Amino acid sequence: MSRKVIPVAAAARGLALPPTDGVRAGEPVADTLGRRVRDLRISVTDRCNFRCRYCMPREVFGEDYPFLPHGEILTFEEIVRVARLFRGHGVAKIRLTGGEPLLRRGVEDLVAMLSRELPGADLTLTTNGSALRAKAAALRAAGLHRITVSLDSLDDATFRAMNDADFPVARVLEAIDAAAAEGLAPVKVNMVVKRGVNDHEVVAMAGRFRGTGHILRFIEYMDVGATNGWRMDDVVPSAEIVRRVNEAFACEPVNPNHFGEVAKRWRYKDGQGEFGIISSVTQAFCATCNRARLSTDGMLYTCLFADQGHDLRALLRGGASDEDLASALAAVWRHRGDRYSEIRTAETARARKVEMSYIGG
Ligand code: SF4
Repeated sequence: MSRKVIPVAAAARGLALPPTDGVRAGEPVADTLGRRVRDLRISVTDRCNFRCRYCMPREVFGEDYPFLPHGEILTFEEIVRVARLFRGHGVAKIRLTGGEPLLRRGVEDLVAMLSRELPGADLTLTTNGSALRAKAAALRAAGLHRITVSLDSLDDATFRAMNDADFPVARVLEAIDAAAAEGLAPVKVNMVVKRGVNDHEVVAMAGRFRGTGHILRFIEYMDVGATNGWRMDDVVPSAEIVRRVNEAFACEPVNPNHFGEVAKRWRYKDGQGEFGIISSVTQAFCATCNRARLSTDGMLYTCLFADQGHDLRALLRGGASDEDLASALAAVWRHRGDRYSEIRTAETARARKVEMSYIGG
């Protein structure tokens, strides 16, 4: 029997929209810490076919979990409208997430609409890979530029211990190859590292992907949401991960590709490529955070660890003009001051926060 929880979506339809103070469509906007919005992450579904322990533990997200009804989730047209107006404020990159975005029917049509309406924008998607082999060609043809695949282990038993789903590692590896063959290379591969569960595979994962052209990223286990039972003891600090990799394969740090890049880059000294580290817990990167997040049902969040967002769906379905909507987007960003990872404490780690499966990572 799964534990009854109030769905985050129903609990809070959001914060009051801040005054728009005359910001017009098409103007770049910076928040209270001078960070300009650059990335928009869009959750296209709150559903997933995996139950990763760090994101969607089955005892909470069980069979009777009240996922969002279809009528409440944003249509493709609504998603594209928000993305287009955010592009006017400086957004250069769109990442489609979930839940598992490839579960959303016709997601490749959404990619095609975004590609048409946001020429020049960098279109990316994060997936667990389970449906990627079948979808790679259509996603590429629709205009997707890059793809990130989550893979927490090379061993089926450990993989299952992390994602609580009966899905073979081999099929995710095949999907990565299929995506690369369709031109979505280099593929980024995300590994969430949890002490005592899969950290023994850090070097094996590095060994598997170095020299392939794909970019493995190690992610520190995070206190996202309020359901994954996060403990600091289960975190393997990125410094320790780098030390382990370096002992096996000599590596050195590399400059970021762009301002605000999430992963710290490291390259192998023998020319066998690079890997990344995402250290939200031990090396906070809030100072350069330029990411906005749109939930499946149209809530705008300004931080992965926020507890509430702003209701854009009410504007979208309430007859707001593009000008009104653009001003609202800008006003929310301009009033943003999030820097959760810099102020994380044992108390904040236990506090109520939006679920990652609802707004995407
Ligand atoms: S904790 Fe929030 S503000 Fe800091 S980097 Fe993450 S999303 Fe950005």
